[in-house]
Amino acid sequence: MNRKSPKKAANDLSVLLHQVLGEERFTRSLDEIVLEYTKNQPDPIAKVVADSLGDFEGMLRPSRKKPCWHIVYNNDTDYRGREKFTLAHELGHYLLHRRPLGAADFTSGVANDGVDERAFSCNPLDRHLWHKSKEEIEGEADTFASYLLMPLDDYRQQVAGQDMSFDLLRHVARRYGVSLTAVVRKWIEFTDQRAAMVLGRDGFALWGWSSDSAYKSGIFINSGMELPEMSVAARGPSSQNGETNLPIALRENVWTFARGSEPVRELTIFASRLGQTLSILLFDDVPERDALEEPREWDTYDQFRWRG
Ligand SMILES: [Zn+2]
Repeated sequence: MNRKSPKKAANDLSVLLHQVLGEERFTRSLDEIVLEYTKNQPDPIAKVVADSLGDFEGMLRPSRKKPCWHIVYNNDTDYRGREKFTLAHELGHYLLHRRPLGAADFTSGVANDGVDERAFSCNPLDRHLWHKSKEEIEGEADTFASYLLMPLDDYRQQVAGQDMSFDLLRHVARRYGVSLTAVVRKWIEFTDQRAAMVLGRDGFALWGWSSDSAYKSGIFINSGMELPEMSVAARGPSSQNGETNLPIALRENVWTFARGSEPVRELTIFASRLGQTLSILLFDDVPERDALEEPREWDTYDQFRWRG
């Protein structure tokens, strides 16, 4: 098995794409790139197809006929706009986690009930749907997709010197061909600002993530926590008073975290199709002396920290 780190594997391919395609690496069909990039492997990815996959958004599965792999992505409308990230996620499994298919035994992973244990069935970025035993590899495949599609240096340039807004996020999402969730998740990972994201539904957080500096100051999101009733996310679009582009300033005691409450600026995007909310919380900087030295002492059990 290839034990490259997800970031390294993604960066290697990203550098190659930059050399070969330049700026076109962002617009070229990823299907073509995947087929081309794996074609000299003994067990290449031979097909990328759309299909109905029920509750899964994507799959990497061995062909029943030849030692090669197929990537399938769900073409249900609920998943529109997420195909590219899903495809990159499956490529991540292929490069990082697959059991190579030997020519002689390529059907040997199929159990009697027809389930192929070598296949990957995925819901990229939907961490609340992941099985505990799959968390590590799913996180790695997401990290791979994120670094492949949104190279850090390029992303930094896109947002340099600009304030957070819906327009800015939309610009970035269009450039990379990924969802707003993928774009926000990535921004939270590299920003120096104290910020957090919360993906919510039905009044509760499905999962969330805080930036390093926010995390060190006691801000972390527990999956399953209730969205505060005075938050924009909980009150709905009418609480925005028509301001959907910029964060809305909220007083203290709306959002409360481990070290108490503080004023926050909240930018929430309502995805009515999925019934989900995607919120970005922006906090003022705190003096260095207030930052915690050892965040590990806290109960961090439920904070999803991505590896990679
Ligand atoms: Zn997966």
